[in-house]
Amino acid sequence: MRALFVGRFQPYHLGHQYVVKCILEEVDELIIGIGSAQESHTLENPFTAGERVLMITRALDEIEIKKKIYVIPLEDIYRNALWVSHVCSMVPPFQVVYTNNPLVYRLFKEAGFEVRRTKMFNRSEYQGTEIRRKMIEGEDWERYVPRAVAEVIKEIDGISRIREIAGKR
Ligand code: NAD
Repeated sequence: MRALFVGRFQPYHLGHQYVVKCILEEVDELIIGIGSAQESHTLENPFTAGERVLMITRALDEIEIKKKIYVIPLEDIYRNALWVSHVCSMVPPFQVVYTNNPLVYRLFKEAGFEVRRTKMFNRSEYQGTEIRRKMIEGEDWERYVPRAVAEVIKEIDGISRIREIAGKR
């Protein structure tokens, strides 16, 4: 069975990594869809789709997964009713969707897919908004992301980028 897990991954954090590990216990292959792929260089979406691909693939290398994982950027389309068909046209066929995002849940359910909720892992700290805030405020953000993700963010000078966009220099 092949599953789909969609997120913005701004950035890919330890909560996401935990979910991916749990999903892989239940399925044979996993598609990780990087949502809002067209977005970057904003406070909500600081990292490009390519940078997020790098974060995810390197973080997965860290945990030596034997199963096949496809990491695929997905641009938003501003018509929710057509989004599921758009996603299906961009990724390999899948039978089940994992999400806690209510809109994603609803759209795939209406399209007839089996949709499973995922467990939340330390949601107060492993949360994109909070991690981006820490990056801007100069607080410790590294311990909330896989080591490989922290390396990518440093490699692309991501902290200066988000601080500059926030008007902090
Ligand atoms: P996200 O990166 O915030 O989260 C991804 C998944 O990880 C979610 O299921 C979330 O519940 C889970 N998660 C987050 N923190 C966790 C933690 N600590 N422990 C366990 N799980 C955790 O991304 P998102 O906002 O859910 O991404 C949805 C994407 O789909 C967006 O890019 C959105 O634009 C896109 N989308 C687009 C359309 C459209 O184009 N019309 C419609 C619907 C959704």
